[in-house]
Amino acid sequence: MTDKLQIAIVGGGIGGLAAALALRARGLNVTVFERAASPRELGAGVSIHPNAARLLGRVGLRDWLENISTRSVGLSLRTSRGEPVQRPPISDDRPTYQIHRVELLERLNEAQADAAVRYGHHCTGVRETEDGVQLTFASGATARADVVIGADGIHSVVQRKIGLATHPTSEGIMAYRGLIPSERFPWAKDLRGLNMWMGSGRSFICFPISQGRVINIVAFVPTNLESEESWSAPGDLRELAAEYDGWDAPVVEAIAALDETFRRGIYDRAPLPYWSTARVTLLGDAAHPMVPHFGQGAGQAIEDGFALAVLLEDAKPADVPARLKAYERLRLGHTSRVQAASRDAGRFYRSENEDAAERSRRMGKWMSAAGWIFQYDVEREATALL
Ligand SMILES: Cc1cc2nc3c(=O)[nH]c(=O)nc-3n(C[C@H](O)[C@H](O)[C@H](O)COP(=O)(O)OP(=O)(O)OC[C@H]3O[C@@H](n4cnc5c(N)ncnc54)[C@H](O)[C@@H]3O)c2cc1C
Repeated sequence: MTDKLQIAIVGGGIGGLAAALALRARGLNVTVFERAASPRELGAGVSIHPNAARLLGRVGLRDWLENISTRSVGLSLRTSRGEPVQRPPISDDRPTYQIHRVELLERLNEAQADAAVRYGHHCTGVRETEDGVQLTFASGATARADVVIGADGIHSVVQRKIGLATHPTSEGIMAYRGLIPSERFPWAKDLRGLNMWMGSGRSFICFPISQGRVINIVAFVPTNLESEESWSAPGDLRELAAEYDGWDAPVVEAIAALDETFRRGIYDRAPLPYWSTARVTLLGDAAHPMVPHFGQGAGQAIEDGFALAVLLEDAKPADVPARLKAYERLRLGHTSRVQAASRDAGRFYRSENEDAAERSRRMGKWMSAAGWIFQYDVEREATALL
């Protein structure tokens, strides 16, 4: 029997699959248990900023990122009327990659070893024993591991099984998403990187994905409605258009070019008091759900997996409780700061202020957060703990 740890990851989303790659790259035995019958992701774009892109590059995905995505450095910002908002340069000017989520999940899945991902495994039970953890699935199947990582998203079963609960508070914001074939959008050829319009309590984001063939949009508008935290609810295109009536032409034309949109309420949560028991821990949205205004949810999930890989690489079963506590100490503080920065960024984007000069002045605070988030090298930080 190998003396490397046997690790089980519950949840095969971006966070779980990236963690599996990082752990396997350091020689650990990993199995991912995913409830869906096959890889499943949203028809939407995701920004992978330098802090996470450098990690994916280290497990062999650099060329793929370069080829599949569109690249940008920083943001192009405007008021709702289209006046440019200036921003100070970011000290780290490595690119952000803008990717179709389905393409990212497929690639992460293809990169796994044979049989490393077990689809159709809906975890319902997590029981720690003296020397390991027993997982139970809805089918009645069971599995044993030395370490269990809950990467099962905002409604995490693993989180509840280790005695935690989160309390969502509505941000008073509804997010709409949609995809537009580029040929249908007159501004597509001029769109580089990530573009945002802000004002009157709203923001609107637009960026190319799939090598520029598709434009991804995300719109954030005020709401009194309670809504499910899932993207399954269809949105009303006329209501969405009315929210942005009179805005800069690309915003109005992007909404007019949509065939369909889906909407989701945005909820905020306080940091959890702990993430780990002796042999079970959490990562990604299960550990630090955050509002999406810094585009860092998936990026922080990827960082978590790489931190765990460094800390578990040479661990013996008896070392696991201390290593999981070290992981928690490293990541809980950092991700709490990112959660707070994401909250602040959302307030800044949505504020009523229409004065481009005033907005430009306030960009400094935003950009300083972008600096420390993008430059963070989680493998270096985790290695320093050993
Ligand atoms: C509007 C919006 C825009 C965003 N934009 C960005 C962005 O640009 N950049 C960025 O970095 N982040 C972004 N995010 C955040 C990002 O989408 C999430 O943080 C990220 O997907 C979390 O990944 P995860 O793997 O932790 O969880 P998930 O993606 O939710 O994956 C969890 C997985 O676990 C599985 N699962 C759940 N329960 C079980 C169970 N009991 N047993 C087995 N499997 C289970 C699920 O099926 C799923 O596959 C955005 C979010 C929103 C709402």
